[in-house]
Amino acid sequence: MALLPLNEALANMLAQLPTPTETETLSLNQAANRVLAQDIISPINVPNFDNSAMDGYAIKLADLDQFSTFTIAGKAFAGKPFEGEIKSGECVRIMTGAMLPTDCDAVIMQEETEQAGENQIKFTNSIKLGQNIRRVGEDVAKGSLVLAKGSLLNVASLPLLASLGIAKVEVFKRTKVAILSTGDELVSVGKPLSTGQIYDTNRFAVRLMLEKLNCEILDFGILPDDPTIFEETFVKAQQAADVLITSGGVSVGEADFTKDVLEKLGKIAFWKIAIKPGKPFAFGFLGESEKQTVFFGLPGNPVSALVTFYQLVQPALARLSGLNDDYLANLTPKMTACAATNLKKAAGRQDFQRGFYFINEQGELMVKPVGQQGSHIFSAFYESNCFIVLEAERGNVQAGEKVTIQPFNGLLR
Ligand code: AMP
Ligand code: MG
Repeated sequence: MALLPLNEALANMLAQLPTPTETETLSLNQAANRVLAQDIISPINVPNFDNSAMDGYAIKLADLDQFSTFTIAGKAFAGKPFEGEIKSGECVRIMTGAMLPTDCDAVIMQEETEQAGENQIKFTNSIKLGQNIRRVGEDVAKGSLVLAKGSLLNVASLPLLASLGIAKVEVFKRTKVAILSTGDELVSVGKPLSTGQIYDTNRFAVRLMLEKLNCEILDFGILPDDPTIFEETFVKAQQAADVLITSGGVSVGEADFTKDVLEKLGKIAFWKIAIKPGKPFAFGFLGESEKQTVFFGLPGNPVSALVTFYQLVQPALARLSGLNDDYLANLTPKMTACAATNLKKAAGRQDFQRGFYFINEQGELMVKPVGQQGSHIFSAFYESNCFIVLEAERGNVQAGEKVTIQPFNGLLR
């Protein structure tokens, strides 16, 4: 099978993934990191009334033609409006957020005034109609679309809903994701290692990333390299979860059974991608069409597992969780930087090298590679803040050449 370019794999995969259908209604307090299953239309104007943007004095602008000093008729506080009406030549002492008194059409900030006798005030600067006034509906107009279906509910969007007095939202149910690692050599953290054994890094890394993506996690542990056990466990996971993510056993070694079992239990969509690290990656479905579980088989090498999760599983889970196309389009943005050192690259596959980007003294965006680039060298991740994305056909890069970088998003930071 020829190697599949990443963008083709991604497009192919996203086209096959279902969007969620099941929803639930939650209070705003419970809705952090959930995905909206409805459009939100504003029930009110924000602000709901004209109000002052400053501490100062509210006047009728036309009075300036006749008066150079004004009498203070009363005070307006946020939450305690000035109730009366002002006469010609009067003003109202007003605080930030207080409702604009009837007929007033400008607010002069405190710092641009002078005392002119008891209860009298003078204005020192020129004044414009409507200055320092926050108008009704200026932030959000009643009846307008505030958040579209498929938006993420987070620190930017939830307070906005609170400002509209919306107490409950309809969200998609969380994606249930089963995870497991495969390999006779693997031991869970916390247990002692025997000869030839290693700790299971991938299940730990995958769990952390799924927690960040607010998925519901079902942990099926470590499977020995035994196709019968694979089959039994895959069936259980298929019944319990929307998604199964495995690692290891997707290559062509003699203990690599994932692909065979997957072919028996469902269908495999593709499994070799033209990226480095991360070539062996399986995508498919387990079970019949009524209860299909999406399958992702990550490579065993921890760096490859993380890279393929970031590049492929992350957008797939965004789609499965109901996040909209706008969100997906900005999930892993790229930019152009200047290589600070030479980079080693063999032409053939698209490279995702671990890099560190920074701004140099001339203000230019630069990037340097971090540590060794082998797919078994996990330690380099900690010091890196981006992927250096090198085109498949590109060879070695000289210092000073332009390269594409992909700063880590919240998943890896
Ligand atoms: P495999 O794809 O199963 O042949 O694994 C490739 C390499 O990744 C081998 O060196 C494995 O020991 C290693 N590996 C597989 N799974 C894990 C894991 N969960 N944590 C750490 N290393 C792993
Ligand atoms: Mg293995």
